Amino acid sequence: MIRRTLALIVTLPLAGGCVLVPVPATMGFPVDHHSFARPESVRVTHVSLDLSLDFDEQRVVGEAGLVLDRSDADAPLVLDTHGLAVLSVHGADGTPREFRFGEDRGRLGTPLEIELAPGDESVSVRYRTSPDAVALQWLAPEQTAGERAPFLFTQGQSILTRSWIPLQDSPGIRVTYDARIRAPEGTVVVMSAEQSSRDDDGAFRFRMTRPIPPYLIALGCGDLASRDISERSRVWADPTLVEAAADELADTEAMILSAESLFGDYRWGRYDLLILPPAFPFGGMENPCLTFCTPTILAGDKSLVSLVAHELAHSWSGNLVTNATWSDFWLNEGFTVYFEARIMEEVFGEERANLEKALAFDDVVREMAELEPWAQKLHVDLEGKHPDDGFSAVPYEKGALLLRRIEELVGRDSFDAFLRRWFDEHAFESVTTAEFRRFLEDELLASAPQARAALDLELWLEAPGLPDDAPRAESSGIANVEDELARLRAGTDPSELETGEWVTQQWLHFLEACADEVDRERMGRLDEVFAFTETNNSEVLCVWLRLAVKHGYEAADGRLEGFVERVGRAKFLRPLYKELARTDPDRARALYARMRPRYHAVARAAVEEVLR
Ligand SMILES: [Zn+2]
Repeated sequence: MIRRTLALIVTLPLAGGCVLVPVPATMGFPVDHHSFARPESVRVTHVSLDLSLDFDEQRVVGEAGLVLDRSDADAPLVLDTHGLAVLSVHGADGTPREFRFGEDRGRLGTPLEIELAPGDESVSVRYRTSPDAVALQWLAPEQTAGERAPFLFTQGQSILTRSWIPLQDSPGIRVTYDARIRAPEGTVVVMSAEQSSRDDDGAFRFRMTRPIPPYLIALGCGDLASRDISERSRVWADPTLVEAAADELADTEAMILSAESLFGDYRWGRYDLLILPPAFPFGGMENPCLTFCTPTILAGDKSLVSLVAHELAHSWSGNLVTNATWSDFWLNEGFTVYFEARIMEEVFGEERANLEKALAFDDVVREMAELEPWAQKLHVDLEGKHPDDGFSAVPYEKGALLLRRIEELVGRDSFDAFLRRWFDEHAFESVTTAEFRRFLEDELLASAPQARAALDLELWLEAPGLPDDAPRAESSGIANVEDELARLRAGTDPSELETGEWVTQQWLHFLEACADEVDRERMGRLDEVFAFTETNNSEVLCVWLRLAVKHGYEAADGRLEGFVERVGRAKFLRPLYKELARTDPDRARALYARMRPRYHAVARAAVEEVLR
């Protein structure tokens, strides 16, 4: 990792005098190809938001106060923006400051340069967002469960926060924040922070006192009710969904306790969950204090709650210790998938964890076969690319497999102790892959020569593909599905298969294994017996609909259109549109043109990539 060299010198007292030692840039900032900020000269340390949510105009309007740490008294403040209209900039003394926009760099946005006066320790920027701000999705009441009020949510990862807040939008530049938010009557505002109070005029106030990367500043607003599920946890959701959501997520406290027993105290105070409308483009987003979730995890049988284990795990890997640049994204997601499986194992047992691991292994192998070599690397080079272009199962699953491989080599006890130190010593910091390598060498491998000899880190981190020593999970549940698949292939009617105890993950494996074997007629028989087209399990439905498109099973057409109309989760939309584009490109494009206004910018980008 190339780092900007810092003219930082420390003086060490030595016998006979002092010596000047240049310090490697551990206090510096790694080069972030996706931010215009120059934090080594002027850095934003705190953001104070005073905003109004204008649903009619679909704009956020107000002021961002920015507290500064100035290392270079002559340097301007450089911020990231994307589509923001800046109305004015003032110093702390209330007098105006000059500002200018740089060149528009498309999806990276536009730098905003602010001239600072000598004594400026803060500035405030009055601004408004554009109606097509990529971080914001404004939903009509009909797009919510209760259909009573409109809804707004933000999504900051990876580099979208700059489209609703002018700041230094790099994961290596942590900030604290506070916010005062005015919203229409009858709506509730929640944020990724502690809710401190409400003003007399109804404005909502929030405070985040721990430094976080800017992509974790998040807001939701709509017709929301809440239910407590433990002393530190509550579920926020549409009033019509809140009871079901609280039931589905009842194991959350057990997950927090298990995570704490593995990797140390939960350091964020509350752990609340917000169930978003189905247009939310992700499964979940680990916004601190308030995980954002898709309603598609509410399967009614807790079969999809590993998503909560995942988002919760980010409270350590990602939120506490963050990737310094998007090339180090695997440090967030690989650690989190590893950690998620450990939580699932603690709370639901080894077989459930192995079942999920085995499925994920197959998924990453399948996905990697279609990725270009650069995108198969863990430590990915994103220069000249948007961070989301590298988004795939690779940082998640290949990253977790590397950690499982190290665990296998050094033993679980040593590896757990190492992970605890990793989190403790880097708490509230942003880290690079090079720093991970150094820490691994010093804290673990140096005292485990056999493990060091067996582990080819360079191959794991810097080469495409999956190394041969990637650990495979054994699952009796998968073995059972394989037995039944063998019977099906031998001519047994689907109604004779023994599937009574199967969980979601087994059904997913079953359908994936059938993908190339069924035809329209066989799909009809499977549907008669198992009613896949009618299932309320979104994961199973998505795979089934993909097979329906692939094999021209028209009986599922209505369900397909309803699903892509209602659900905006990129994980589901992308494979469905991809299969549609393969079988009938005109139909794919026509359907997408109709649905596009319903999707978040993240989901649009994911679909448009497969329709190209
Ligand atoms: Zn994640």
